[in-house]
Amino acid sequence: MEISKQNKIKNFFKRYGVMIVAGVFVVAIALTIGLTLPAAQEVSTTELSFTLPMNNAEITKDFSDQDLLYNEVMNRWETHLGIDFASEDNAVYSVLDGTVLSVTNNSLEGYVVEIEHTDGFVSVYSSLSENVLVEEGDTVEKGQQIGEASSTATAEFTDAQLHFCLLKDGVEVDPNLYIDLQNK
Ligand SMILES: [Zn+2]
Repeated sequence: MEISKQNKIKNFFKRYGVMIVAGVFVVAIALTIGLTLPAAQEVSTTELSFTLPMNNAEITKDFSDQDLLYNEVMNRWETHLGIDFASEDNAVYSVLDGTVLSVTNNSLEGYVVEIEHTDGFVSVYSSLSENVLVEEGDTVEKGQQIGEASSTATAEFTDAQLHFCLLKDGVEVDPNLYIDLQNK
């Protein structure tokens, strides 16, 4: 009786031992990936500390990639993949250390400065006046003034405002997720 029981157990492990080991291995890998991935993402975003693009600013239009917001100047409803700011002194600051990717000008967005940061972030500042304080290739520090808000973005503004966008890996993201806009 005892011997046959032992044999049964032996046979069981001979047959299924490999499968059991493989199963345990797969579960261990799944747990490792599941536990390390979210942790790694949290670290990469909390390491960066953004500052506001304007001081004592009012948010005149918030980010919206789902709901349509009304554009009074163009008389149409549209999504808004950035945040609009207005402030008393109109000064516009880089939200992080970075390198100026481009300084451009067009009739709908006005003067536009793009700044590249670490971790795949690019910040974009539109509707600047022609008095842009940086050039392509310049290294800028977080909080450094790069220009001043104006009404050059004729597709959006009739008074001095900043249209601010934040891109992560080439895609517009909600700046509210990264910048504490209540702490102005
Ligand atoms: Zn805007």
